[in-house]
Amino acid sequence: MNRLLRPLTGLGRTLGRTTLGLTLDLASGLARAGEAAADSLGGRDRSPAVLRVRVLILRDGKGVPLTTPEAVQPALNTADRILRQEVGVRVRVASIRTVVEIPPDAALNPRANKALLLDDVLGRTEFYRRHLDTVDTVDAAGPADAARIPDAVRSLLPPVLAVPITVIVVRQIAGNTTGCSLGSSADWVIAQAALFDAANTDSYDETVLVHELGHALNLPHHTDRSNLMAPESSPPDRIRGTRLVGWQRALIQANRHVIPGAVSGTAPDHG
Ligand SMILES: [Zn+2]
Repeated sequence: MNRLLRPLTGLGRTLGRTTLGLTLDLASGLARAGEAAADSLGGRDRSPAVLRVRVLILRDGKGVPLTTPEAVQPALNTADRILRQEVGVRVRVASIRTVVEIPPDAALNPRANKALLLDDVLGRTEFYRRHLDTVDTVDAAGPADAARIPDAVRSLLPPVLAVPITVIVVRQIAGNTTGCSLGSSADWVIAQAALFDAANTDSYDETVLVHELGHALNLPHHTDRSNLMAPESSPPDRIRGTRLVGWQRALIQANRHVIPGAVSGTAPDHG
């Protein structure tokens, strides 16, 4: 592909994914609102919804993994606890893998926010996407979860609904950023390895992973420091809060990545 055409193709892909993501979020949200209304009329309860998360750990230039699955696990547990308490969504870890191929510097030490979006448009996030693609997306929801997806939503599968969000552990993100997401246009987020280094109290922060998941689920920043989507978090003393408010809950529950809970039994008959 020539040099002029390549950015245009990348732009089309990024814009296309953004539009597709937003459209699917809306469609899945409408389908779920209808289901929830039917359940409440029928007096039925639902088990927690599920968000599946994958973790890809990169290696440094010498081939040494940037972190370990054990080190990432507490942040995944925190994500599960916060989303369960605040939104009724369980975080299920689908896999934690260490990528064998040594990444180019741009993938190991990526740029943040708008620059990362530009890099996505320019095709510079190829390394991430190539390794996402090696993971199965055909039966992304898994057999047990797939059975719980409403028929109206299931007809759109695969591979765009109920796809897990992948957390890619990188070495260093440019600037003061420690994690970054492209919002609903990407099924992946990046997080800096030092976030998971419990020995380093100045960098260890279990809230960043779940904050970035929030962005991937379409949440913008929130000004309240007690909110999970507060932009700033400074370990060890000023770590952001974990709260989510009503409209944030609604956005997460309607998101195309979230698998709705199963209906658990029927309500007692009041005659
Ligand atoms: Zn943020």
